Amino acid sequence: MPENTLYDVDLLVIGAGSGGVRCARIAASHGARVAVVEGRHWGGTCVNLGCVPKKLMVQASEYGDYVADSHGFGWNTEPGTHDWVKLIDAKDREIHRLNGIYVSMLEKAGVRLITGHARFENTHTIVTTPTGLDPEAKPGRITARHIVIATGSTPTKLPVMGADLAITSDEVFSLPSMPRRVCIIGAGYIGIEFAGIFAGLGASVDLVYRQALPLRGFDEDLRTALHDAIDQRGVRQHEKSSPTRIVRNGDALTVTLDNGTRLEADCVLMATGRHPKTEKLGLETTRVRTTEDGRIEIDRHFETTDPGIFAIGDVTNHLNLTPVAIAEGHILADRLYSDHARGWSFDTTPKAVFFTPPLASVGLTEAEAAEQGATDIYVSKFRPMRHTLSGRERRTLMKLVVDQATQKVVGAHMIGEDAPELMQGLAIAVTAGLHKADFDRTIGIHPTSAEEFVTMRTRTRVAGARGRADD
Ligand code: NDP
Repeated sequence: MPENTLYDVDLLVIGAGSGGVRCARIAASHGARVAVVEGRHWGGTCVNLGCVPKKLMVQASEYGDYVADSHGFGWNTEPGTHDWVKLIDAKDREIHRLNGIYVSMLEKAGVRLITGHARFENTHTIVTTPTGLDPEAKPGRITARHIVIATGSTPTKLPVMGADLAITSDEVFSLPSMPRRVCIIGAGYIGIEFAGIFAGLGASVDLVYRQALPLRGFDEDLRTALHDAIDQRGVRQHEKSSPTRIVRNGDALTVTLDNGTRLEADCVLMATGRHPKTEKLGLETTRVRTTEDGRIEIDRHFETTDPGIFAIGDVTNHLNLTPVAIAEGHILADRLYSDHARGWSFDTTPKAVFFTPPLASVGLTEAEAAEQGATDIYVSKFRPMRHTLSGRERRTLMKLVVDQATQKVVGAHMIGEDAPELMQGLAIAVTAGLHKADFDRTIGIHPTSAEEFVTMRTRTRVAGARGRADD
């Protein structure tokens, strides 16, 4: 790569989250001179306030079930007590370890690390101001040929009276003690996952959401099965409801809903979406345009309206998922600094929601496929083997969505134990455009739940084109 001495570095990445780190590392591996500016925490939301601590907490919340379920298998175990502070300490230690890994990964790749808040001075210049992440950091200025904005997103609160009394996912991972009563507003990814975590750890949980079913955007059968699973987890669901105000009531908080219901809680968690983090970036000094909903406008090469400035990950508000940001960072670094580009299938990005039991999906929902034409639907609902002895009321639902004309499997959906683990493999099949016949000729692994995906021989119904009708 020809040396470009006009600028301090070839590439400057703002934000060391999943997308930014991948972009920086790959660009450096292609020989680019790269710097990353980070002001808050190495690893970004996923490592510090998202996927990683969330998954550890989901796992923590499931041990109580294992103890209870073991009785059916002959164990004389007694239910124990849970120590929240011990969990948070253990989780913090693990995150601290991961922060270190991120730093050393970048350093080993030859990336220059700058701690501080980054602000554009112009299209090719960034000024940095210390934020406290590194006590020895000094203000600075750096120029770059290309700048990537990978600043991610931040939680949004509903503008209701008393919203400042509610916390978001930014605070939930470091609560000083375990709340006994939790009111969660919103039934998207975060609301559902924390309803499961708190219920599993023994809290009394109210879940408030404005739809008839949780998790809008997922397949309807999955949403219905999730609704049942939430009931079975002991979470009280307040469907078709929104909060109108939150007031402090001694040590407790009272949440009033638009139907007049009043809920008492020790902690109110607003899980009502995230918005791109662009404020204080100094975008007004550039030609970067943002959309009405605050995301940075980009073209198909992640380039903003100011040539030379790019944006990846949640700040573009495409699909706010860690592996998507990583893929975007990788594609961009390859495109800018190498002549080989890898193809990625964003259309078949698998998704998972870590409730207990978890959900996972890839490809089209039944409704989306039916919009496009006649669709064969295969559904299987059963009690997993473990619960024949545990006695727990828990069902698994699996579903295949098959384009009738081509017989391609265009969607797969599951709620049940290990659904995310299993869906990763199915995502390869759906990405590869495999047909139902390929699933049918695959031999199952017995006894597993997964084998059901290759033994669904009888179509449950037809959707789309000639209407949704039972066969
Ligand atoms: P989501 O967009 O998933 O869910 C937001 C929830 O808030 C929905 O129930 C939504 O209702 C509700 N809501 C939004 N606006 C209002 C309003 N004005 N009044 C009432 N309710 C409202 O956001 P989350 O905060 O749960 O998560 C943010 C993002 O983080 C997700 O989109 C996801 O991309 C990512 N994430 C991914 C995870 C994973 O992959 N497992 C885990 C956690 C987060 P409605 O549906 O009606 O709009």
